Amino acid sequence: MNVMIITKPKELECLVKSIGENPVFIIGCSECATLCHTGGEKEVLSMKEKLEKKNIKVTGWVVLDPACHLLNDKRLLKKHKNKVEQAKKILVLACGNGSQTVSEIIKDAEIIPGNDTLFLGEIKRLSEFEKRCDMCGECIQDLFGGLCPVSRCPKSMLNGPCGGSIDGKCEVNSEVDCIWDMIYKRLKEKGQLDRLKEIRAPKNWSKSLETRRTL
Ligand code: SF4
Ligand code: SF4
Repeated sequence: MNVMIITKPKELECLVKSIGENPVFIIGCSECATLCHTGGEKEVLSMKEKLEKKNIKVTGWVVLDPACHLLNDKRLLKKHKNKVEQAKKILVLACGNGSQTVSEIIKDAEIIPGNDTLFLGEIKRLSEFEKRCDMCGECIQDLFGGLCPVSRCPKSMLNGPCGGSIDGKCEVNSEVDCIWDMIYKRLKEKGQLDRLKEIRAPKNWSKSLETRRTL
């Protein structure tokens, strides 16, 4: 897997507050959250230890394969039925999608998302991820030389840069390249700078409203 849903862990204190004095069952995810180091076996066991140090009872744990797979989750959670039933709270160290899949199965305990879900991104290095897509429902990156300003420009500029870029870096976050600087260079390389003269209509965000898809 080289593109995935990027998450970051919530603060421990915030999770402890949500759990209160209730027994908790911890769930991780074998894919994105494992690669992000936010919900693999290592993080699940580390969370177990941290919660137990706070005198919170952990009834059990499992790493789902992956958490967003409803049928696999049902099968795996069945094996942990007793320990899940002993818990009043379920802490899910996965993305928001995985947490909601779990909440479709476990109805009697409160589901607590242990991570914040950030974006669909690319793995640059072992522990470095960059946003690539906002899942807008109508991909238009071909208009920009295969680079997406919808997701990669904080202002989602479609008709050129905002003018704030300094030395090719974004004015909103100087750690990332200004995507419009990259688009300009890419189109120049391809001899397609004329494309920048075309005025792009505002993005049709109604296309992003699809909430169900069947094949
Ligand atoms: S145009 Fe939309 S679908 Fe395509 S990469 Fe950008 S955000 Fe994702
Ligand atoms: S500097 Fe570039 S990437 Fe940053 S907001 Fe402006 S146009 Fe977008």
